[in-house]
Amino acid sequence: MDHFIYRNGILHAEDVAITEIAAAVGTPFYVYSQATLTRHFRVFDEALNGMNHLICYAMKANSNIAILKILGDLGAGMDVVSGGEYLRAKAAGISGDKIVFSGVGKTREEMALAIKNGIRQFNVESEAELKVLNEVALSLGAIAPITLRVNPDVDAKTHAKIATGKSENKFGIPISKAQEVYSIAASMEAIDVVGIDVHIGSQLTDLEPFRLAYKKVAELTKVLRQDGHNIRRLDLGGGLGIPYESSNQSPPLPEDYAKVIHETVGDLDCEIEIEPGRLLTGNAGLMVSSVIYNKSGEGRDFMIVDAAMNDLIRPALYEAYHEIIPVIESTENSETQDYDIVGPVCETGDTFANKRALTPVADGEMVAFRSAGAYGAVMASEYNTRPLIPEILVHGDQFSIIRDRPSIEAIIKRDIIPDWL
Ligand SMILES: *Cc1c(COP(=O)(O)O)cnc(C)c1O
Repeated sequence: MDHFIYRNGILHAEDVAITEIAAAVGTPFYVYSQATLTRHFRVFDEALNGMNHLICYAMKANSNIAILKILGDLGAGMDVVSGGEYLRAKAAGISGDKIVFSGVGKTREEMALAIKNGIRQFNVESEAELKVLNEVALSLGAIAPITLRVNPDVDAKTHAKIATGKSENKFGIPISKAQEVYSIAASMEAIDVVGIDVHIGSQLTDLEPFRLAYKKVAELTKVLRQDGHNIRRLDLGGGLGIPYESSNQSPPLPEDYAKVIHETVGDLDCEIEIEPGRLLTGNAGLMVSSVIYNKSGEGRDFMIVDAAMNDLIRPALYEAYHEIIPVIESTENSETQDYDIVGPVCETGDTFANKRALTPVADGEMVAFRSAGAYGAVMASEYNTRPLIPEILVHGDQFSIIRDRPSIEAIIKRDIIPDWL
């Protein structure tokens, strides 16, 4: 459920008309609903009630510090994958003991930053990383709390580019080697083994892969405890999918996902960490764009909009589906037509949808891309010297710019012509 609805024929975010925001900031822009975000967090958090748990929001999905502040105030911790994200979490007021650090390529500098400023745990992904982390912690006179991310060799049944839990993926330590690497970790002076971590992929629409992976984690917990490790925390990753296509998709409900957790690892007396990203922010955001031109091709009608692949890359990168709706509600008797909805960037890949049935939207009118709150703004670039588009947060009848559109001058100024030219 979200708070993007038509009122008097105009699409609103909560109590604010999209047309009002467009008049203030121009298009394209991202708009997020605080009520929707809050609701998503609460539903998920309540589903996990009865288990000792911490939701560590995977902030790579949407790392605007206003979004982090909302989730932090609701009690969320953060899952970060870079020093930059760590500092963003800090800037949003998240305390170090609620931040977990994931990622296959943490540098010494990033490790030191997190150790000095406080960290809940590092999710270590290789033996090489373990060795370096031990050295960094030793040099700082600190102890680094860790889990090892195990790769359970489970097929997440999602898009190949966002599957992470098969043995051919670059992530984690093969679960068959885990016992060996845990004993190496335990022998290191500046490493404290606190638990196990797993994350098998993103946009999962089936619970069985989770069940398989978590069962393997439960078995491993028992084996490692027999080996003398004090396994007290299980980080179960993120990845629960969301509906992108309201008509034909219904991903698992949070309470059913929670049931799987309860059934697989609920009796191990461990603190549970979950790292949802998309689930919290995905359906809390829209991207709004104006139609520049309607253009008829041979047997095709193109709708050319002012947003492009640099603003929302998911369709180009993952063949992702985003529902596209008119900002001014179509009247009941207006008929749909098939459109190719494309951006202005000079690549054929700059296509948001092919043969999408839509009621006509005139040049200058607006459309909204739904489910754009996760992996939207954060993956944007300035390709074609198109400025990053603004992000707007709505709260009831108020809205605020939470990231402004940079000027073209500011973008050009970042380039430097060397002395010899
Ligand atoms: C990307 C990622 C997540 C979040 O994935 P979602 O599909 O957005 O929930 C969680 N944990 C790790 C380690 C990740 O890399």
